[in-house]
Amino acid sequence: MVAPRPPRPDAPAVEVARVAAAAPDWETLAAAARPCVACPELAATRQHVVVGDVPLTGRPRFALVGEAPGASEDETGRPFVGRSGALLDLLLAEAGLSRAEAAVLNVVKCRPPGNRTPRAPEVARCSGWLRRQLELLDPPVVVALGLSAAKWFLGPRTVLAQVRGRPHPLGGRAVWATYHPSAAIRFGPNGAPRAGLLADLTAVAGTLP
Ligand code: SF4
Repeated sequence: MVAPRPPRPDAPAVEVARVAAAAPDWETLAAAARPCVACPELAATRQHVVVGDVPLTGRPRFALVGEAPGASEDETGRPFVGRSGALLDLLLAEAGLSRAEAAVLNVVKCRPPGNRTPRAPEVARCSGWLRRQLELLDPPVVVALGLSAAKWFLGPRTVLAQVRGRPHPLGGRAVWATYHPSAAIRFGPNGAPRAGLLADLTAVAGTLP
């Protein structure tokens, strides 16, 4: 069977990729991303482009990559600050990790209306920003939180249960894929996603230099 070809990037995706690739540093990239209107629906409904957080040193020990901002993130302009962010902070601490050492990013930088799943063209357009962020920050380890982020790194046919729990070498980095904290909230404190997320973060902590 022949694998389906990825869709060709449209003109806005090409333009985002061009502008992002030209950014020499994080600040320049963030300033270029904030007025981005490549996705008309998202640009019309968002409050902020949630570019992401980086450690004060500018050199993350690891990167956390989620799907897209939610309501709290859209309101504040910062990633993972709502209920999911609070649980993520808690589980990071339980795993012996600190968010202050991490880059915190999303595949899509603008909140989809009603928290719907980002559409393929939106992911394609925003990919230029994330690709350049990873180049500039160069984290040795990336943790993809949730299926959308896992697919971004590991391919559209990724099944989370089949890829989580171990690192995947990709472009000189170790990419882990695990549950999104929102799944851990949805299934409750005794649910499998919370236990799996904590186990994966603990395993990641054990591999960090
Ligand atoms: S989602 Fe990404 S590409 Fe689309 S408008 Fe927002 S910043 Fe631009």
